[in-house]
Amino acid sequence: AALGAPAYLLKIMPHVDGSLRICELVRYRMTEINLKGAWSGPGALDLHPRTRWRRWPRCRCSRWCRPCTSSPTPRCRWARWLSITSAETNLLELTMQLKDKIALITGAASGIGNEIAVEFAREGAKVCIADLSLEAGQAAAAKINQAGGRAMAVAMNVTDEAQVDSGVAKTVQAWGGLDVLISNAGIQIISSLVELKFADWKRLLAVHVDGAFLTTRAAMRAMIAAKRGGSIIYMGSVHSHEASPLKAPYVTAKHGLLGLAKVVAKEGAAAGIRSNVICPGFVRTPLVEKQIPEQAKELHISEAEVVRNVMLKETVDGEFTTTQDVARLAVFLAAFPTNALTGQSVVVSHGWFMQ
Ligand code: NAD
Repeated sequence: AALGAPAYLLKIMPHVDGSLRICELVRYRMTEINLKGAWSGPGALDLHPRTRWRRWPRCRCSRWCRPCTSSPTPRCRWARWLSITSAETNLLELTMQLKDKIALITGAASGIGNEIAVEFAREGAKVCIADLSLEAGQAAAAKINQAGGRAMAVAMNVTDEAQVDSGVAKTVQAWGGLDVLISNAGIQIISSLVELKFADWKRLLAVHVDGAFLTTRAAMRAMIAAKRGGSIIYMGSVHSHEASPLKAPYVTAKHGLLGLAKVVAKEGAAAGIRSNVICPGFVRTPLVEKQIPEQAKELHISEAEVVRNVMLKETVDGEFTTTQDVARLAVFLAAFPTNALTGQSVVVSHGWFMQ
């Protein structure tokens, strides 16, 4: 009520702990994702009191959207899409968890990184998509901008010191700072240790470990200079905690990120920089699709058996983790306001690995 929430929102409150979660309600309504778990009761379904698109000739949210007749701002477009009033938009704005935060996400033209970029933009962040191909990055940024978010792209090979420094500098210059780094770019190489080429070992470690170091250093420099803290998040893996055959450099690199995150947590604390690692189980992205036939060949089993008996065997329900699962966790970690949550790894894997 203190936020001026419309009455219909206040009626919707049956969260498991009984508390009002207006922000979550608005977010769920915005993304139109399936309501489940704590939200599956009748109260949660009341969340859709107005689903019709209002044919407004021009935006009514004059407070935020001026001028908006020719080029509506993201907020304005969302308000239209949601068909909500200016007062309600006010609430929507207040509940965005990353409102006006500036985030650089490596490897965000595809898979997990791309979903994080989309989710961050929905939460009000300005995102920079940093990936090998500028065209792919620009295409991903264009999709976000068309949907009403704010995104730009830079070409960045995370193993290249000059490209990393220049990509971070371009982001800072374009948007006036850097609040969040998601060090996500990654590759996979499937091979037994005895057959692994030294060049492949070095190539994988360069992307995951050198890339994490170079982006971290550039981001920390920008964050320290701006004196407003920040959040650095590494894309680890269940393989930051567990080992699997045929993945020696990947397991080594992902374990290494835990150490780097802990050092960043200690060195960054004085400047308000937090650092955490997300550790997903298997997520069906191009990186995983590629390794299913490769593992089948190496292990002499079918692709279905790779999925069932290798990838999902230890999960509690035989389910893949989704890009959305990982992105929601990234929002939570990026938005966490204090150093209380730093130097940690959080596993999101359907129970494959339990800490
Ligand atoms: P993906 O292949 O869909 O995306 C990886 C992205 O990284 C691509 O856009 C690629 O162009 C980019 N990239 C690769 N090398 C790069 C470089 N040198 N510089 C800049 N960008 C580069 O894969 P994904 O599954 O989304 O993987 C993203 C991250 O998540 C990786 O670090 C991966 O190890 C990690 N991860 C994935 C899974 C999974 O099951 N998919 C599980 C745990 C962790």
